[in-house]
Amino acid sequence: MVVPDATLDERFYDNPLVTGPANLRFYAGVPLTSSAGHALGALCIIDGEPHHDFSSDDCERLRELAKMAADRLELRRVEISTEKAGRTLEIFDTNPSTAFVRFDKRREVVARNAAAAALYGYKPDEGFARSFDTLVPERERAVLHDLIARAIGAGSVEGLSVPAKLHGLRRDETEFDLGLYLTCFRKKGDLTFNAHLQDLTALRLEEEELHRLANTDILTTVANRAHFYRQAEKALAGPSSSAVLMIDLDGFKDINDTLGPAVGDGVLCEVARRLEALAGPNDTVARFGGDEFAILLTGLSSAALAHDVARAAIISVAQPIFIAGHEVRVTAGCGIAVAPLHGQEAVELIGNADLALSKAKSIGRGNSFVFVTALRKEAMTRRLFNMELHRALSDDEFVLVYQPQTRLADGALTGAEALIRWLHPKHGLLAPAAFLPALEGGSLAAAVGSWILDEACAQAALWRRSGAPDFRIGVNLFGAQFRTNDLASEVFSTLERHGLPPEALELEVTENIGLDHNVLETLQRLRDCGVGIAFDDFGTGYASLSLLKRYPLSRIKIDRCFVQSMLESERDASVIRAILYMARSFDLETTAEGVETEEQRESLRRLGCEEGQGFLFSRPLPAPQFADTFGIGMPRRMAARA
Ligand code: C2E
Ligand code: CA
Ligand code: CA
Repeated sequence: MVVPDATLDERFYDNPLVTGPANLRFYAGVPLTSSAGHALGALCIIDGEPHHDFSSDDCERLRELAKMAADRLELRRVEISTEKAGRTLEIFDTNPSTAFVRFDKRREVVARNAAAAALYGYKPDEGFARSFDTLVPERERAVLHDLIARAIGAGSVEGLSVPAKLHGLRRDETEFDLGLYLTCFRKKGDLTFNAHLQDLTALRLEEEELHRLANTDILTTVANRAHFYRQAEKALAGPSSSAVLMIDLDGFKDINDTLGPAVGDGVLCEVARRLEALAGPNDTVARFGGDEFAILLTGLSSAALAHDVARAAIISVAQPIFIAGHEVRVTAGCGIAVAPLHGQEAVELIGNADLALSKAKSIGRGNSFVFVTALRKEAMTRRLFNMELHRALSDDEFVLVYQPQTRLADGALTGAEALIRWLHPKHGLLAPAAFLPALEGGSLAAAVGSWILDEACAQAALWRRSGAPDFRIGVNLFGAQFRTNDLASEVFSTLERHGLPPEALELEVTENIGLDHNVLETLQRLRDCGVGIAFDDFGTGYASLSLLKRYPLSRIKIDRCFVQSMLESERDASVIRAILYMARSFDLETTAEGVETEEQRESLRRLGCEEGQGFLFSRPLPAPQFADTFGIGMPRRMAARA
């Protein structure tokens, strides 16, 4: 009987177990009956929580459990009754699935049932082993002798424990995992034994399989995170020193994105094999998930050895991997923490190795780093800073400043780029460099990005209504905005909310937002609807040219490093000429950033660059000053008050 939720079942509406303090919700029970059909009781599972997911498999397992329990009870009953009567065989013969052998104090078999014959490979009408000894392999006989001798000495099997890992030896010399349950009774003054025998092979295999599944990473077959933690706990409890290496692949996401998940999986498996090859027989290699691996080194004679293994791991992973006709190259970073110096508990040691890994990755690709306590302090500072950023957003401490964009031909104002500042209650006005890296690395980037978009669009709408009808606003995007939000929909609804046409907005993207499918699709949707897409800091990244081909762009912003030295360096001037030429052939508009001098402006104009932005025209200004300087509208806050 299964009752998923007793409170929903009318049969129990006044049952005190359900309505009373026991508060039972779930019940699953199976009757226990003897082989002769006597009711013995019930085996049940109860819980205070409802379980609507109790499956037919679960029912089957409960039934099996009940059968085992009934068998045990039956055995106990037989034992008691035979102590009086000494007649078991008939009873066991009524339960033909239970193999049963009776033997005397010299271990001579005196009776057996058909199931025992079948279990040991004899035909029903054939003879059977003469001695109970021959039913187990030779190596286990001494233990069995000892057990039986002790039982004879004590006159009972009470309190004796049968060894857990016994084997049965079949007639054809093959073995199986033997489950043995012994009882005894006195027959004419001598102790006689009843052995209840079971083939546990299938059960063991299933157990082993379950154990394996619970401890391994299915994809790579190395240990999983949970098993790694347990192994680390064990190692730390021992006397010798150990170390944890945390290993993370660089650029794995790109492989997955460009070559597909099958190749990605292949890379992970190969990396796992290579790490296993470096580990000793008592070490543990694990995958923690994604492209993160860990090695537990045990019995280390010196901390330097852990560093050696880390270096070897980095070198090994960096060797080309050949999969499905591709030659793939990945690099790995590695963080190291050595016990007991860097932690006496698994969680602490692994956490510290992880901090060391972040440090290694921040240095660059293919690095390793050994944990130092300063990393903990840094992590703490980061956490505090992150909390401050949360406060900044909720308390409106972020503000936007606006830097004008100017048409070089006639000096007319075409729009502005919105740039973020943090009006910090203690530290004053902070530039993006002071907090953007932390913001982008944290969880808040998308939320701040949404705020920037909304605030900038509100401002642009106001200025377009009050004196600058063609005003265009440039808004920088964070990579996180593509990952967490449906950015295109968000942009469309923001434009609508402020009554802005799509061409009034220009989103600025840099090459580190990446090239995955989602980014391209989002940009395409935005561009198709008329929103401008500007490629920011063009020319500074490694992939500018390939991205130029893939991104649906409307504008290129030439990075200020080229503008700054264009008059001194013929090479930089050539780069600018080349970019302008390329932009024309791709039918893209151009803005030069960082224009600081009249000469730069003049020469950019002559080269055909359309717009400029820089200190020559104006520094980024708060909205009221911007409006004042360019004679447009009223500052938004004042307008709101008016
Ligand atoms: P960016 O997008 O390249 O922004 C232009 C930066 O160049 C601004 O620095 C601006 O003040 C500075 N700049 C403008 N003209 C000149 C000039 O003539 N000479 C020199 N030396 N610098 C000039 P800022 O405001 O400190 O911003 C730095 C970077 O922070 C930005 O570079 C952008 O990558 C990021 N950022 C700023 N605001 C936001 C934002 O609201 N959202 C996002 N996602 N990123 C932002
Ligand atoms: Ca920008
Ligand atoms: Ca820029």
